[in-house]
Parts: sequence; structure tokens; C-alpha cells
Amino acid sequence: MRKYFKCPYLDNNDILITDCLNGCHHKDENGIEDRCSSELYLRECAAEREWKNKPSVTQLISGTRESYLKLKYDYSIDLYNQVYKIIGTRGHKKLEIQGKYNKINALIEEQLEYKDITGKIDYLECTKEDKLILIDHKTTGVWKIKKAIGMTTVDIPIIDKEGYPVLYKSGNKKGQQHTKKKNIIDASCVDIEDWILQLNMYRIMLEAMNYPIYKMKIEIFNRENKRYSLQCGIDKTQYKIDIPRVDDKELLDFFLNKKEKLLHAVNNDIIPELCNDKENWKGKKCKEYCEVADVCFKLGDNPHLKDYMQVKDDSNFMGEDFTEDPF
Ligand code: SF4
Repeated sequence: MRKYFKCPYLDNNDILITDCLNGCHHKDENGIEDRCSSELYLRECAAEREWKNKPSVTQLISGTRESYLKLKYDYSIDLYNQVYKIIGTRGHKKLEIQGKYNKINALIEEQLEYKDITGKIDYLECTKEDKLILIDHKTTGVWKIKKAIGMTTVDIPIIDKEGYPVLYKSGNKKGQQHTKKKNIIDASCVDIEDWILQLNMYRIMLEAMNYPIYKMKIEIFNRENKRYSLQCGIDKTQYKIDIPRVDDKELLDFFLNKKEKLLHAVNNDIIPELCNDKENWKGKKCKEYCEVADVCFKLGDNPHLKDYMQVKDDSNFMGEDFTEDPF
């Protein structure tokens, strides 16, 4: 459960969320309450979904340990790490209002449930030909966009005007050819497995309600600034990508199996094994982005968190891209 904020006015030490929201301890020069962030922002950071023993699609895509720790342990929220999530949520809300205002023929932000798994779709669009397209919006950074479109950086050998290789004339690389970096699109580098799982599960839920889905798409909004995006090879602010259909049985087996694992752990107070490499991005999530890493670290069995306190002290929250609000 979200119980504490890392308070910027207490050197990022924990403060009870209830104490913070009841009244900030920090005062301005006139003795008037002077919050680090608006109360609205703080309330949004504190918000979490009530647990009713029915996991959501997103809880099941995350590692079982991560979802378990979030449900069973009190943990602390870093206020600055919530910014991108809130930007994403705000974008969703704007689109939702637009849909309702214009009475678009669509289901928007619809809550679903199937086999005791819950989910909320962003948008189910109906074409003029009465075909249903399931669309999910993601506000994300260039790192995730590159993975979504399969962009990778390769070394291209340099040749001169006459067509001869340009070689190093001295140093360690003497005799080797000069190269330059180039971004290329390589379908084999596309990595959107989480989105495939998420949208296909929503598709199954909708089809169980007699909404046959024609296509699934992700509409990505690039949240980085133009200069940084271009430096990284990303030249658009918005991308739309198709999500492939996967086998229903395999997908349901995956979700039902993870549901059983999570419910068993939660209802019997058994700490699940470490999130696997896919779930914790080979340890990157543990070290930099997992909201319950403090709790996981205290369990003492996570090899990715061996130097955790050191990593935290050295970290710069603006340093590297976040994946996204995952869903
Ligand atoms: S720190 Fe890593 S292993 Fe632990 S819950 Fe978070 S993602 Fe999972």
C-alpha cells in the first residue's frame, strides 16, 4: 500500500501520506503552509486502486513479487517519479472528454472483467464499415518508442569519395576502418511484448462481451522535446503501431496462471520469488524504477539490489528515460 511520500523538505525522508495531506509541515517566511507540490498533485500521487481480490491485467503483466509487495507492504512514493505517469493520465482524460463531448461512436475508458481479471480499455473505435478497433494510448519517451518501432543503432563503415575505406592512421585502432553511428529500423528489434499481452487480453474480454475486434493499435505520444528526440533518431511526436493477434488459449493460460500465483501469495502471505528477467528488465527496473524496490531490497535476496543504496544516492531522476506509465 502507498503509505509514505519521500518528502523533498525532509531530505527525501518518509512522511506519512495522511500527515502530508492533512497539512504540510513546511512554512513560508510568513508561517503559511508552503507545499513542495500542489495538493491536487499530491492526492493524485497517493491514489491507488482498491484491492478486491480480482487482479487487473496490468497487475498480472508485472512481476508477481512486485504486485504482491504493492498490495501487502507499506511503501514510499518518490513524488518526482510520478510526473510522467500523471502527464499520461492527463492525456487520457483529455481524449476521454473529447470523445464524450463529440458523442463519438465508441467505448471510452470502459471497465471490463473476465474470469475474475479486471481491465480498463482506453478506446474502442467503430469504423464507418462497422469494424471495431481497439486503441490504447501511451505517453512515453524515446527509449520505449525506439523499442516499439524496432529502431536500433548500428556502426556503418566510412568510405571516402573514391570508394576506399577510411582507416585509422595511428593509435590502438591503426589500420581499422572508421565507422559512424546510424539508426536503422529492424523488425527483429521490435519489443512490445507487454503491449501485446495487454491489448490481446482486452480483446478477449471484449470478444466475450460480443464485440468482435477487427484490429488492435497503440497510439504513442512522444513526451520528449523535439531536440532530444531528433538526437535519438525519433522525428515524430506521434506513432501508431499495430498489435498482432496472439493465440487465445496461450494468452489465457498465461493470465490465469499468473492470477493464481498472485492470489495464492496474497491470501497465504507467501512472498513470491523474484520477478524474472522479462518482468524486471534484467534488473534495470529493480535498480531504477520499481516503486517497491526499498521493500524488495530489505528482503535481502535480490542480486540486482546489492549496491542499491549506492545506486540510489548516485541516481539522477532526469538522467535516463522512463519506460512509461506502463499502462
Ligand atoms: S525490485 Fe525487482 S524483483 Fe523486486 S519487486 Fe521490484 S522489479 Fe520485482
